[in-house]
Amino acid sequence: MKRTIAFDADDTLWHNESIFHKTTLTFKDLVSHYVSPKVLEGKLYEVERRNLALFGYGIKGFMLSMIETIIELSEGKVNAIEIQQIIDLGKYMLTHPIHVLAGVEETILALKDDYKLIVITKGDLLDQESKIARSGLADYFEQIEIVSEKDEKTYAEILKRSKIDINNFLMIGNSLKSDILPICNLGGKAVHIPYHLTWELDKVEKPHHFNEQHYVTLESVTLLPQFLQENTF
Ligand SMILES: [Mg+2]
Repeated sequence: MKRTIAFDADDTLWHNESIFHKTTLTFKDLVSHYVSPKVLEGKLYEVERRNLALFGYGIKGFMLSMIETIIELSEGKVNAIEIQQIIDLGKYMLTHPIHVLAGVEETILALKDDYKLIVITKGDLLDQESKIARSGLADYFEQIEIVSEKDEKTYAEILKRSKIDINNFLMIGNSLKSDILPICNLGGKAVHIPYHLTWELDKVEKPHHFNEQHYVTLESVTLLPQFLQENTF
């Protein structure tokens, strides 16, 4: 039976955090007459963290958090035109072209005959579906899971429902918090491929209780096929 490799999507298959980063810079600029960029950034993270349980992950929640942040920091002075500009920033993000990360497609092609390839991504259902469709990668994957949180419970449920033995499973992703730790905690294996930007709310301490038997870090996804050939990981 083929081993299953599950890929995270945002910042693993395509660029994502860079779009949030760029938008945050524009947002800071847009409202700089109310508040300094530094204060704005701190507050935005605080509001996003507060709203996460209500809005979930994704652009629409981010848009609302930007609006809420500037309403609070401007003490209600932000005007309707400025709020429309923030909404337009969010709409721009939702239609932003998908830039697949360098080497992803070649890597998938190198793995697809020997492994069952699936995607496990979290976020807003409509937006994640649209990104997968626009990426041109959808046909390579036998299964696509869009979930609202990537924790042990979610992974265990997907594995059970898909009849995948965790010993026959490998998770690939850029987020220690969402892609690596939950899998290691379930006794599975994972490959961490960091992206050059990490969302503030996604940052976690590097786990010391897991070693290279649990997960390895590769600099690029293109190193994956050779790594799997040369190691019994
Ligand atoms: Mg990711």
